[in-house]
Amino acid sequence: MQDQAKNNPYYSRTETAKLNVSNDEWKKILAPDLYAISREAATERPFTGKYNEFDELGEYYCAVCGNHLFRSNQKFMSSCGWPSFFEADKNGVAYHRDSSHGMERIEVVCKRCDSHLGHVFNDGPAPTGTRYCMNSVSLEFVGDSESGK
Ligand SMILES: [Zn+2]
Repeated sequence: MQDQAKNNPYYSRTETAKLNVSNDEWKKILAPDLYAISREAATERPFTGKYNEFDELGEYYCAVCGNHLFRSNQKFMSSCGWPSFFEADKNGVAYHRDSSHGMERIEVVCKRCDSHLGHVFNDGPAPTGTRYCMNSVSLEFVGDSESGK
């Protein structure tokens, strides 16, 4: 388990019940960079995230709560500078309208903890035409070799 999950009593890869935790509480638990992105919708600088150029086989979980979000075979190499997926776990993500920064976008959040993950766009590759543009900081990767698959 990563450092950020160590002192996090809400973290679970099996629980799916929705969490209702205040930002004051999250602030005590999460690392500062994860708090800024997941709870204040900050964005990591492009081409800096650890999963941007990354193609190992495994599962991606929410770094805040452990909810399953993506499988590596849903990821594709995008030139946008952030890890990108053409499909998400339908039980993993939810959507909010985002009109901030003078743009109309669709924000992607974790369905369990409502943390900001990134945005979704309709310029992705076949078969979905969808591009989930995610922050690496919001993701936790567990490789197949680690999980014994
Ligand atoms: Zn979550």
